[in-house]
Amino acid sequence: MEYLISSILFLLGLLFGSFYNVVGLRVPQGESVVLPPSHCRSCGHRLGPLDLVPVLSFLLRKGKCHYCQAKVSPLYPLMEGLCGLAFVLVFVKHGWSAETILGLLFVSMLVIVSVSDLAYRLIPDKITLPALALFLILRFWIHPDQPYWMHLLAGVVGFGLFFLLTVLSRGGVGGGDIKLFAVVGLFLGLPLLALAIFLSALLGTLFGLGLMLLRGGGRKTQVPFGPFIAAGSLLAYLAGDSILDWYLRLFF
Ligand SMILES: [Zn+2]
Repeated sequence: MEYLISSILFLLGLLFGSFYNVVGLRVPQGESVVLPPSHCRSCGHRLGPLDLVPVLSFLLRKGKCHYCQAKVSPLYPLMEGLCGLAFVLVFVKHGWSAETILGLLFVSMLVIVSVSDLAYRLIPDKITLPALALFLILRFWIHPDQPYWMHLLAGVVGFGLFFLLTVLSRGGVGGGDIKLFAVVGLFLGLPLLALAIFLSALLGTLFGLGLMLLRGGGRKTQVPFGPFIAAGSLLAYLAGDSILDWYLRLFF
């Protein structure tokens, strides 16, 4: 039974991931997420059902548009696959519970803001602010690990910390990142927020170093931070307890 539900959730995650690609690309442009129907971003040709199967279409068409042969970004299938995987992992961790619903919403928001940030270096308020409002309400009832006020406090800490960092670094962190950390804090609560910040910074730094080694580029390469916040937060949410356990046993 668990396998069946996991498989269904994986497929759902792929489908939703495909939709979130569209949302993440269109919302910052002020476009509707339903109209016009999906089309190639190069030639504008409307995409048929065979072009819209998550991951498989990309593989089938060898990463090119069927109509104009323009290259399609591998980020599309990657985001779809990750969304499917994350949906399953949320269910594996929380099973049949209200927390699973919240977890799926959290994953959804993280995928959308990652797509926007990768495409435009922008985390849209139109996604983070409704998410903030939604979790503010839902966390009031659903907070299995810690009291509601700790979620609230973590939201304030997430916002405050990065607001301060932005002021001190004179704009080194984007405004979108600050609001995203407010949502992440509110959602994860206190101990996990600290871990999420640490993991985001670690992943971002490792990626930046790798890029510098590969490209030999200087400091000019600008990497959007949003996807790393998303990855770090998701990792903290799904494996935070194990990571903290392991860490504490290492030192105490
Ligand atoms: Zn095309």
